[in-house]
Amino acid sequence: MELTEVFGSNVFNDKVMKERLPKEIYKALKETIEKGTPLRPDVADVVANAMKDWAIEKGATHYTHWFQPLTGITAEKHDSFISPAGDGSVILEFSGKQLIQGEPDASSFPSGGLRATFEARGYTAWDCTSPAFLKTDENGNVTFTIPTAFYSYNGEALDKKTPLLRSMSAVSKQALRVLRALKNATSMKVTATVGPEQEYFLVDKELYLERIDLMLTGRTMFGAPAPKGQELEDQYFGAIKDRVSDYMQDLNTELWKMGIMSKTQHNEVAPAQYEMAPIFATTNIATDHNQLVMETMQKVAFRHDLVCLLHEKPYAGINGSGKHNNWSLSTDDGINLLEPGNTPGENVQFLLFVSALLKAVDTHADILRATCAHAGNDHRLGANEAPPAIISIFMGEDLTEILEKISKGQKVSARGKQFVNVGVDTLPDIPKDNTDRNRTSPFAFTGNKFEFRTVGSAQSIAGPNVALNTIAAEALDEIATRLEKAKDKNAEAAAIIRETYKKHSRVIFNGNNYSEEWMKEAEKRGLPNVGNSVDALKAFVTDKALKLFQKYEVLSHKELHSRYDIYVEHYAKQINIEALTAIDMVKKQFLPAAIEYATFLADSIDSFKSVSVSAPVQVDLVKKLGSLLASSYKTLAKLEGAAAKAQAIADTVKKAESYRDNVVTAMQALRADIDALEMLVPRDMWPVPNYTDLLFKL
Ligand code: ADP
Ligand code: MG
Repeated sequence: MELTEVFGSNVFNDKVMKERLPKEIYKALKETIEKGTPLRPDVADVVANAMKDWAIEKGATHYTHWFQPLTGITAEKHDSFISPAGDGSVILEFSGKQLIQGEPDASSFPSGGLRATFEARGYTAWDCTSPAFLKTDENGNVTFTIPTAFYSYNGEALDKKTPLLRSMSAVSKQALRVLRALKNATSMKVTATVGPEQEYFLVDKELYLERIDLMLTGRTMFGAPAPKGQELEDQYFGAIKDRVSDYMQDLNTELWKMGIMSKTQHNEVAPAQYEMAPIFATTNIATDHNQLVMETMQKVAFRHDLVCLLHEKPYAGINGSGKHNNWSLSTDDGINLLEPGNTPGENVQFLLFVSALLKAVDTHADILRATCAHAGNDHRLGANEAPPAIISIFMGEDLTEILEKISKGQKVSARGKQFVNVGVDTLPDIPKDNTDRNRTSPFAFTGNKFEFRTVGSAQSIAGPNVALNTIAAEALDEIATRLEKAKDKNAEAAAIIRETYKKHSRVIFNGNNYSEEWMKEAEKRGLPNVGNSVDALKAFVTDKALKLFQKYEVLSHKELHSRYDIYVEHYAKQINIEALTAIDMVKKQFLPAAIEYATFLADSIDSFKSVSVSAPVQVDLVKKLGSLLASSYKTLAKLEGAAAKAQAIADTVKKAESYRDNVVTAMQALRADIDALEMLVPRDMWPVPNYTDLLFKL
């Protein structure tokens, strides 16, 4: 099949709907998708039936309401299309009711107290703004998959999609108000768009299966560095090996079939690290797609005897993986609101939207940071890794200069042109290609979008985009209110840009975000720098956050508290799994291996003695082994003690803090001893594949 035929072949998309639905039904459904008008039951019935026929022709036997619980991954329960015909045979049915709502008995998902057991049932509701599609596997099993929102009996969101949809409406509403105040009468809707670049590692499956830590925690908890790392910079954008290329091609085909616009692929900085970037979509569709991307990456890897590692830090000492969340706002008539325009009028609009983001990010840096807080990402943020935990904005020199000059009422010049200016109607051309890319910034303006780089590679992008949409909505709301009241819109716009810059430019930083100077400078500027998840998550339940999310009807107080509880608890559980895994490996694999080698050396010393030859090398080695063995035995006991103590704490937050303060440090100490042992023990006696095997045998 040609690529253009493959693309979207498993999606019940607009083209299929047009072909298969009666005109009137198609029109009604489109109204619902585009304007959110309620779906009529008779329309739902016809749509469901058309979906069923299409899915069955394509080989589907089952359908599923696919949703995104607070675990951060997706969930699905399959029902077949069969229904009794009454004579012992079956007919295939799918009703509008079954399409619109489901009641999975999903009581085992985390709800953070939103559901008592007696009302444990959760409900799923069709999200018609993200197209239904077929999930297929290698053996030809086909499932008709319906994107849904997941909520409780009382209508509280139990998932990541519901608040995302709410935040999209919020930002659309406020952005439209700003546009109207600027005399734009044509745009009817503003959509938050995202293109998430996904980083990942590949490892040989056989080697992976020999590492309990990789299997259970997604990262190597031990491992002395390989003699070679990423220092030669020979991996980044290097020629892609055939085996990896085969994998990528297979992955692309699977993604294309599901209508995911997989566009860019390349080798990343660390050995065995790669990246895929799709073409951007609405934050809702992009979030659904990114979940599918992560799932498909893992699934397809297995077919190639590979394993795809999505963890933020699979290996110590080399780069980890992130997700660059490229975010912008677009109108339904095709205007990217973060794209500098060609006329002063367009540029006023552009500068107002940039100002809104400036204010939003400075005011709610703590919330943005919190949306990226989980155990895996702690190895990146605030550790020696990109980006730092301090949220700042890279605006680029040109744009910063323009804003700076406007704020001082000075003449603005750009690209050599001079403008006599204070009123914004004489704004300069704004340079479009912001080539001065700053790879170290957590939040970078890249010419026509903002790139939020703090997001972890394994996490759902829903949370970060819920936050971005909501904080943007708040800032745009304030701007709209001022503009609506003002008689002279231009003067007011200039005042807003000026005042916002004065108040919030402290969050702009165009330099090297890794440098020691920036840490100090950021502290002087009063920017928050929270290096660990447990503290970062607190930003979800401050008065400021509760008010913000409540005001824009994105998350109620109860919904926010439930998320805070779930994420803190998840952190504790994750570290506990890591601790137990480390203990298991040390006791059952590393100590026995080191003892075996020590015994071999001791025997060798005896053998040498029996022929009256001294064995200084063996003696030296066995002494070193002996002392490392003793030390690791001690650090192991410390870890066991710390884990038991943390485990026994009832209070969720205190428990997580105990894991962070005592267990994480004990794991690090144990790793240091074990990695030192690994350096002494012969390769064939070491019980697990080492870093050279894992990173270079691909
Ligand atoms: P890079 O940042 O590596 O130079 P690109 O500039 O091509 O790469 O874009 C990276 C990602 O940003 C892609 O997923 C792309 O689709 C996305 N992107 C481009 N424009 C927008 C936009 N207006 N809104 C959201 N994402 C966008
Ligand atoms: Mg990028």
